[in-house]
Amino acid sequence: MEIQDIFLATRNQGKIAEMRQLLEGVGIRVLTGADLNVPLPEIDEDADSLEGNARKKSEEVFGYVGIPTLADDTGLEVAALGGLPGVKSARYAGDDCDPNRNRRKLLGALKGMEDRSASFRTVVAFTTDQDQTRLFEGVCDGAIGLEERGDGGFGYDSIFIPKGEERTFAEMSPAEKNRISHRARALMKLRRFLEREVYQ
Ligand code: IMP
Repeated sequence: MEIQDIFLATRNQGKIAEMRQLLEGVGIRVLTGADLNVPLPEIDEDADSLEGNARKKSEEVFGYVGIPTLADDTGLEVAALGGLPGVKSARYAGDDCDPNRNRRKLLGALKGMEDRSASFRTVVAFTTDQDQTRLFEGVCDGAIGLEERGDGGFGYDSIFIPKGEERTFAEMSPAEKNRISHRARALMKLRRFLEREVYQ
């Protein structure tokens, strides 16, 4: 298999910045919608699992752009809420996908709770042909803080404290988050796959 370009099937600028950094040095050009002159389809993330949504995004967008495509679906799984918001993380506080409201709703749901443990889980889907999609998973364990802290990152970063850390992801530099995050762990597996399959 020879791969020169990879298309990132996301409009989330936070994810794009992280994934570009995490794929640096692999010898592949990383492209986004801004680099191609094609309107990308709106994908309905209606699967009941991260795996299903990641696969759906990468396969539908691959059908559109025709180059190897990478998509990520991420969920925040909170133990005291039985794993919620999980696959519903983007729409936790309603269909408008407002990260502020999502964070406030989660802090409210955990008010007074002792068990604040949570895990971020990312599933990355990589489609290289119509019926050829591989999945890579990355998990980062941690806890939900008592309030928002930090200005970096995106989404739930300002309320998530990775295990062994005192700071939230939003209080870390991008490089620090990229050393330990769920997305970094999934993309490390993809990097190993690319190095093994593409550049042996
Ligand atoms: P999706 O993978 O784009 O569906 O994201 C699900 C939800 O999790 C959205 O609300 C994102 O903002 C949030 N999210 C995804 N990745 C991260 C992350 O690395 N840190 C914090 N929040 C994230």
